[in-house]
Amino acid sequence: MIDLRSDTVTKPTPEMRTAMAEAEVGDDVYLEDPTVNRLQERAAEIFHREAALYVPSGTMGNQIAIKLHTQPGQEVIVEATAHIYEFEMAAMAAISGVLARPVAAPDGILDWERICAAIRPKIYYHAQTGLITLENTHNMGGGSVYTREQIEDICNRAHEAGLPVHLDGARIFNAAVSLGTDVASLTQACDSVMFCLSKGLAAPVGSMLVGSKEFIERARSVRKMMGGGMRQAGVLAAAGLIALEQMPKRLAEDHQNARLLAELLRETPGLKLDPSKIRTNIVIVELTNKDLDSETLALRLKEQGVLVSVVNAKKVRMVTHKDVDREQVIRAAEILHRMLS
Ligand SMILES: *Cc1c(COP(=O)(O)O)cnc(C)c1O
Repeated sequence: MIDLRSDTVTKPTPEMRTAMAEAEVGDDVYLEDPTVNRLQERAAEIFHREAALYVPSGTMGNQIAIKLHTQPGQEVIVEATAHIYEFEMAAMAAISGVLARPVAAPDGILDWERICAAIRPKIYYHAQTGLITLENTHNMGGGSVYTREQIEDICNRAHEAGLPVHLDGARIFNAAVSLGTDVASLTQACDSVMFCLSKGLAAPVGSMLVGSKEFIERARSVRKMMGGGMRQAGVLAAAGLIALEQMPKRLAEDHQNARLLAELLRETPGLKLDPSKIRTNIVIVELTNKDLDSETLALRLKEQGVLVSVVNAKKVRMVTHKDVDREQVIRAAEILHRMLS
């Protein structure tokens, strides 16, 4: 099977397995797991922040940040196809008592003009805007990327308006590699950042939340409240450390493969895509043949050994990652091309 459904399907490397088996551990609720502590220290260093917290999932990291940045009854500005809005079970309403204010933007990339128009005036009978969230790379935007300048423009103006900005940086290393920059400078202007170890970085479990010391101390309490206090989590953090230190440098290969996939599909009848828009490891293609829907295409591809994910009735997503190589990408493109020709 050539599994292009997501970079979450990546399996831990042999080096990760060894590190997991040999990890020094302790009770992390007592702050006594040396491997978790080291992972948190390294994440904070790499992002030039005071502190970091290991969390079981990206969703939990995002939701902890939302809870800490907001008060019940407030609104949170999110891009209309953002992970926080589309794939997190309305958790911000259930957990933090806040309402999402979705704002659509081309390729998922917001700008201040669009955000500003959605900020509530400071009038006592309006719900007040409490937080702005950004997503970099933007998953449903096809792995699109915010530049440092775009993020800083939004953050500076948000801060002038008294609003914090949380970054859903599930794939922030993909963004940094694509821009040829480092994650610290790319994310510096944001008040908090969540990133995933479990996607293209190939750790089996876990995400990180980074921010100020005070923010992370409060985040640790909210993590416990949500049931995310873990014990000998060092066996997982050991893989996370390798993900953080070793894996970002190979992401460029995934980006090349995604671009190659898009180039190979450029001439395929019934597919609409723009290879020049492929910046990272995500390729979203639109089906233009009215007789073919995504579910049917995905099923037929599965029979031929290729797995893709269905975005909606007319869009499928393919994600490149360390467990699909160039040859497999070429084969997947050939199968798709043959099927549609
Ligand atoms: C995967 C992902 C998350 C977090 O997902 P979990 O499955 O909860 O770890 C958050 N944001 C984006 C953009 C993602 O792609």
